[in-house]
Amino acid sequence: MTKSNYRSIAIYGKGGIGKSTIASNLSAALSLSGAKVMQIGCDPKRDSVSLLCGGLIPSVLDVADRVSDEEILLDRVIKKGFNGILCVESGGPRPGTGCAGRGVAYALELLERNNVFERYEVDFIIYDILGDVVCGGFAQPLKEGFADEVYVVTSGELFSLVQLNNICMSIFALAENGAKCRLKGIINNMRGVPFEKDIVEKIGALMGIEVVSHIPRSETIQKAEKYGKTVIEKFPQSEQAKMYFELAQFIVENRTKYAESFKPLLTSEIRQIISEYSRQEEDGKNN
Ligand code: ADP
Ligand code: MG
Repeated sequence: MTKSNYRSIAIYGKGGIGKSTIASNLSAALSLSGAKVMQIGCDPKRDSVSLLCGGLIPSVLDVADRVSDEEILLDRVIKKGFNGILCVESGGPRPGTGCAGRGVAYALELLERNNVFERYEVDFIIYDILGDVVCGGFAQPLKEGFADEVYVVTSGELFSLVQLNNICMSIFALAENGAKCRLKGIINNMRGVPFEKDIVEKIGALMGIEVVSHIPRSETIQKAEKYGKTVIEKFPQSEQAKMYFELAQFIVENRTKYAESFKPLLTSEIRQIISEYSRQEEDGKNN
């Protein structure tokens, strides 16, 4: 018997914002709750699952160049990581040598064509997707109907908020054109900007998107990274692990709620909000 009632969740955001850290800790937390999880890295950086697998794994695109038998190919690119999490890295061309979306499309079609999600009876698929350029390639998992619940990672810094705006805009455009993806919320992966929670809450409220988690900046992440592990695996009792367990629980429970409309902001409006809060910070210091 196979089943195909899995949920697919996409974590989008600017490069370096903390997508893979969040995706891996989320996968780890979900798997500890008893769910069968598959994490698919869709970023040419190809290090999405390294904290789950203790290092880099061969990407689909790399192996597909050498192996044509799809069963052998699948066996080489689907790796079991922490707590049995199934890990896949789509891979992509070297920077500047072609569309990075090609690897993503190829990998996802390969998995679907071979009924991998059903064969492994997955409950959750976590897609970890770079959103620096929201070109066709990066929108692929959404356009093709692979990922349907979208969370976007940002911080309170200008460039990640501008990218949040761009990503939300393209997700909404896809949904309006019939894709089944839904924008479910913003994850604030904090950088230590003053009034960062307020800034991200304010921007979320103006855009019409819920901020579902404020994840503190914490050295626990780097300490666990030194062992090649997530904080969920290495420091499950830590405050940081608690944040990811809570986020996982929120996502599990948030089956139906999503942003029904989106109001894009101008970069100048985002800049204005940040500078209002940084003036408050200055005023606080001067008083
Ligand atoms: P992305 O996948 O978006 O490119 P990563 O998840 O690889 O970003 O994160 C980049 C780096 O930021 C990681 O090496 C990690 O050490 C660090 N990082 C991410 N989130 C946090 C956090 N909440 N606190 C401290 N460091 C973090
Ligand atoms: Mg990453």
